[in-house]
Amino acid sequence: MKKHNVSNKVAIAIAAHPDDIEFQMAGTLVLLKKAGYTTHYLTLASGNCGSADYNPASTRAIRNTEARAAAKILGAEFHPCLTDDLEIVYSVELLRALAALIREAKPNVILTHSPQDYMEDHANTSRLAVSAAFARGMANFRTAPVRPAANYAVTVFHAMPQGLRDSLRRRIIPGAFVDTSSVQKIKHQALGAHKSQQQWLDVSQGLNSYLLAMEDMSLEVGRMSKQFQHAEGWRRHLHLGFCEPEDDPLAEALGRAYLVNGAYESGLNSIC
Ligand SMILES: [Zn+2]
Repeated sequence: MKKHNVSNKVAIAIAAHPDDIEFQMAGTLVLLKKAGYTTHYLTLASGNCGSADYNPASTRAIRNTEARAAAKILGAEFHPCLTDDLEIVYSVELLRALAALIREAKPNVILTHSPQDYMEDHANTSRLAVSAAFARGMANFRTAPVRPAANYAVTVFHAMPQGLRDSLRRRIIPGAFVDTSSVQKIKHQALGAHKSQQQWLDVSQGLNSYLLAMEDMSLEVGRMSKQFQHAEGWRRHLHLGFCEPEDDPLAEALGRAYLVNGAYESGLNSIC
């Protein structure tokens, strides 16, 4: 397995729906960009179910435009979605498509959902991202479109689940915290680009609840860190089949904006 090197500074955020990246991953993605990374933005689903006013085709188009705008604000290369809402199933078809994209982008950092999350689209996105990364160097696995396999180190990071709990209500503790205080404004701008969602949720839940929900989550994770005001939490996927055991490209890239929760891997979880 090749070690990380400076010529391979590519990160991709792989989420389920338009706006999930902004809620859980965007601060880290922007900080990686500032650290010299090329960054990519992909949501597997179109967001076509996210409206009570427009039909699926119109909603898909609106949300595609909004996601493109958000990716631009974050300085990340936008990739079109691969399927629709509630249709992110663990399928060979989706795996071939996602593996092709990963073979093209060659990320050494993958930011994706928590394997445990409140809805299946999120959990399945996490599983697909892990398998697609695992297949990067397997020449006998055919991607669609066909792309050549290449072996290199990639580290997969799982974001905090929505509500900071798994689907069985257990609290999830991050293995590391990223201080996103300095880029909170950009996160707001990018989330604000998803105007249709803001309108939809604000009507049902009260003024600005959409932006406040993101703010509350980053403040809560910040409190868990006991060090940062706003933070995103991450858990590193086990290295086997992906990278060297000690590889932590976020630590290398982010320096003092990165705090390892030493208690996490020991199983003590005492920081929280
Ligand atoms: Zn989602």
